[in-house]
Amino acid sequence: MIEALDPSEDLISEVATKASKRALCIFAHPDDLEFTCGGSVAKLALDGWSIDIVITTSGNKGTKDPSVTGQQLAGEREQESRAAAFILKANEPKFLGFPDGMLHANDELREILVREVRRLRPELVITWDGFRPGFNHRDHRVTGISTYDAIYPAADDHLFYPDHKDEGLQPHRPSAMLLAGTDEPDYHIDIEPFMDIKINALLAHVSQMGDRDAEGLRRMYQDRIQASAPDGDSANLPKLRESFKKVILRR
Ligand SMILES: [Zn+2]
Repeated sequence: MIEALDPSEDLISEVATKASKRALCIFAHPDDLEFTCGGSVAKLALDGWSIDIVITTSGNKGTKDPSVTGQQLAGEREQESRAAAFILKANEPKFLGFPDGMLHANDELREILVREVRRLRPELVITWDGFRPGFNHRDHRVTGISTYDAIYPAADDHLFYPDHKDEGLQPHRPSAMLLAGTDEPDYHIDIEPFMDIKINALLAHVSQMGDRDAEGLRRMYQDRIQASAPDGDSANLPKLRESFKKVILRR
C-alpha cells in the first residue's frame, strides 16, 4: 500500500514517486483519447510511463459513406487507433467490441472493466467525466460512469467478482483518476511541446479527419481552448493545455 497522496502537490509527480508510472486510459471510441489527452499521454510516455488503453466500442458508426459496413469501419478504426497509440508511444489498445452508440452502464461492462483494472494494475486512470451534466454522447457518459464504478469500490474488493481469483487476478485500487471532457477542470497539463505528436496521432484517424489537415486541427484545438478558458483565469494556465478533473482515491 502506498503513502497517501498530498493534494497540494502535483498529482502526476506524486503518483510517479509514491506509486508507479503505470497509467490506463479508458475511452469510448477509437479517437477519444487523441482528442482529449493525446498530448498528455505523449508527455507521460516520454517521462517513462507505461500506458495501456482500453476502448469500449470499436467505433463501428461515425461515417457518412453509405457503402461502408459497420464491421469494415470497426476494423479500419481499430487499425487507426493502433497507429495512433504507436505515435504516442502507448501500448497497443484493447477493444472491448461493444457496438458504437449502444453502451449500457450495467454489470457486464463493469465486470469487464474491473478485470482490466485488476489485470493491468494502473496507478493513474484517465477516462471521460461521465457525471458531467448534459454530456452529449451516451457512450462517453457510460464509459466514464462505468469506469468510476469499476474502480470504486469494485476492483479493490475481493467480494466483487470473486471468480477473478481463478484467473490469477488480485484486487487493485489505482491512486488517482483524471476525468476528461469535464466542466470542472482543476488539473491542466501543458502540452505545447507535445502538440505536434498529438496532431500526428489525430491524423492517424484517417477515416474521421475528412479534409482536416495538421494546420486545421491545430487551429480547431486552439479555438477550443480559448473558448473553454474561464474569464480572467486563462493567464495563469498553460497556453496549450489538456484539462481534467482530478480524483484522488483514498486507500
Ligand atoms: Zn467519442
